[in-house]
Amino acid sequence: MLQILDLSKSYRKTLAVDHVSFTVPDGTVGILLGPNGAGKSTIIKSVAGLLRFDGAISIQGIPNRELEAKRIFGYVPEIPALYDALTVREHIEYVRRAYRSDITDEEIDALLGRFELYDKQDKLGNELSKGMMQKVSICCALAVKPRVLMLDEPMVGLDPQAIKELKEVVLEQKAKGVTLLISTHMLEMVDDLWDEVFIMDKGHILASYTREEAGDKDLDAIFFGATAEEKKEEQAR
Ligand code: ADP
Repeated sequence: MLQILDLSKSYRKTLAVDHVSFTVPDGTVGILLGPNGAGKSTIIKSVAGLLRFDGAISIQGIPNRELEAKRIFGYVPEIPALYDALTVREHIEYVRRAYRSDITDEEIDALLGRFELYDKQDKLGNELSKGMMQKVSICCALAVKPRVLMLDEPMVGLDPQAIKELKEVVLEQKAKGVTLLISTHMLEMVDDLWDEVFIMDKGHILASYTREEAGDKDLDAIFFGATAEEKKEEQAR
């Protein structure tokens, strides 16, 4: 479970996230949906422990800054950052050791196979295309065998086969009871994945809906409904 309580973050004069609270239960997929600049990455980076923030974040009930919390979450950043001098396989090996993950050699083979990296496993980080780097980054996060998995705009830069594979991975992780938080500005990419959607704009959650609450409305209708409401309120102010 991922819990965010009263999270605020400013970068100098920009208030990027303003008193945001939400929870994503075990075995569910939460989606942060909103335009560029809404504050999605800032929330995810705060959870990942990369930013100072006000408020409280817990991962399976453990404050996110504690090592015990860091050991059980996986994070795929918006822009993949690989080590130039490590091969694809060595990246996974590094994660396996750092996190003391019990992922087996066979599981690593299967993971690389799924993301069409098996025959590229001896290539160095700086020899890869942006899409391949993104796939290595996804494999590294999965190699942790996380309890909580966060993906920041994960579909950007992926080819259709990798997008299909990633969607399957998300559903498999969810079935295993993993908590997932995915940020995106592309509605169509997550339409078949979400359990709860948090619609963000200008550092706020404008509205949130579970699938049951949404009924037969699709994400498009929900998103544009919530943002139209907000515009009306802005004009009335
Ligand atoms: P999103 O992920 O929804 O596109 P971000 O969290 O990246 O949004 O950005 C939220 C706001 O914070 C934007 O106004 C953005 O310009 C600002 N911002 C993000 N990162 C920084 C930074 N490192 N320094 C200054 N402002 C930033």
